[in-house]
Amino acid sequence: MRLLVTAGPTCEFIDPFRYISNPSSGRMGYALAEAARRRGHRVVLVSGPVSLPRPSGVKLVKIVSAREMARRVKELFPKSDALIMAAAVSDYRPARCRFQKMKKKTDKVALKLVRNPDILSEIRASKGDRSVVGFSAETENLVGNARRKMRTKKMDLVLANDISLPESGFGSRRTRLVAIYPEGKVERWPLLTKLRAAERIISRVEKMAGRK
Ligand code: C5P
Repeated sequence: MRLLVTAGPTCEFIDPFRYISNPSSGRMGYALAEAARRRGHRVVLVSGPVSLPRPSGVKLVKIVSAREMARRVKELFPKSDALIMAAAVSDYRPARCRFQKMKKKTDKVALKLVRNPDILSEIRASKGDRSVVGFSAETENLVGNARRKMRTKKMDLVLANDISLPESGFGSRRTRLVAIYPEGKVERWPLLTKLRAAERIISRVEKMAGRK
């Protein structure tokens, strides 16, 4: 299979030296790329800025902002059999990025933010029979919110995780995922290393591809 995987955070610049981002380490996406490569799949990994070693045997496409990620995913999706969106895409970006470093002149500064493109929603129309897998990081109503996202973003599998749990939050080495399927089936997986969780996800994607 040709697998497209996204990983890590995106960074949205305010000025040349400052940005808005999130603490995603990229570990889940990199583990997915590694697990897929070991199973013999061809992998393209679109990654935000992370401090993980470059994975071997995988094509790495580095991006910084959500808009860059959207551009690359839209370009690569038609050439892929499945997409796994493990990236923690910033929902908002500053309305403008200043050319010069912001000076501290006043006590308060208001930052105007605008919505970033929702990548999964934007590729929905070109889905065809490709499998689309997404993540849903939640702090409340885990299954309900994940189900809603699955419907609106037309996903074939959603991995929901409760990021308020200290054991499986952002950046941790292990994760406790809840796999949710379109027919309504819910599987609560135990606490697994991200590589073990990635192996399970890749095996589910292989099964989905086999059914198409
Ligand atoms: O941020 P949210 O909880 O909606 O993310 C759910 C899924 O949508 C994730 O797989 C994430 O990678 C993806 N996403 C996206 N474009 C965004 C935000 C999230 O494709 N702008």
